[in-house]
Amino acid sequence: MNRVLFLFLDGVGLGADDPATNPFARARMPNLKEMLDGHRLLADLPAFSTERVSFVPTDACLSVAGMPQSASGQAAILTGINVPRRIGKHWGPKPNAEIKTLLQEDNLFKRLRNQGCSVRLANAYPPVFLQRIESGRRALSAIQLAVEAAGVNLCTEADLRDGRAFAADFTGEAWRSQLDFEDTPVLSPDEAGRGLVHAAHEHRLLFFDHWLTDVVGHRGSMDEAVALLERLDVALGGILSAWRTDGGLLFITSDHGNLEDKSTRRHTRNPVPLLILGKGHRQVAAQIADLGDITPALLAYLAR
Ligand SMILES: [Zn+2]
Repeated sequence: MNRVLFLFLDGVGLGADDPATNPFARARMPNLKEMLDGHRLLADLPAFSTERVSFVPTDACLSVAGMPQSASGQAAILTGINVPRRIGKHWGPKPNAEIKTLLQEDNLFKRLRNQGCSVRLANAYPPVFLQRIESGRRALSAIQLAVEAAGVNLCTEADLRDGRAFAADFTGEAWRSQLDFEDTPVLSPDEAGRGLVHAAHEHRLLFFDHWLTDVVGHRGSMDEAVALLERLDVALGGILSAWRTDGGLLFITSDHGNLEDKSTRRHTRNPVPLLILGKGHRQVAAQIADLGDITPALLAYLAR
């Protein structure tokens, strides 16, 4: 059965081959490099397909001036609508009323759910986060809103403990060190990667939001960015080692650039990477040039 494991990397664009500004030009990422046929994830890498993988530099600007933002970019990914053009601007980080309406009307999760397919956001959210949402002190992101609009609950501490959902840092160390849990699971990034693949077997679409890439792009140092990317690469190694080519598509992309240019703490207008692995990757990749093409291409693939 066709299924998708969607690894979403918030705030990752294709930047210059410059170790002074771009952590992707510094970090050791052997698993990503192997996946990219020996290349690094940099701006000079043109679109290509091998037997195993397709890579497409993908437009996140969508013909709208200004810096691409998370809410409008994520909504474009999940609705197939050119959301920035529809609302006349890039907008974020949280959705405004117009973006909320678009996501509530129709989105990738909702469409699949209405077809009877199982969909899930694989991030585990701690009780303190869910309480802030509940009390209105915190707004949902575009991705979380899309999942809610599909009638699917966000994953909780219980799902983390069951191994059905995953911590934002893959390992769960931050639940111990920052959230003061004493007995929540701690995984290696490799185990988390493997776990994501196993969890993906239960769903037509399993989506993981790696939002730390955007946070470190805004606030982190170069060293923190390199460490984050090296941990991400180990998780990717876990995903790849557990992955079966006939098990569906592994789909990796982003909403806008940020982390790839540490000379600024703001987003960038760089294209974002799109990486697709699995049977049928070429056909899906051929349909995608910008963020708005992703949902139509995935729906067509999942309907096959
Ligand atoms: Zn951001």
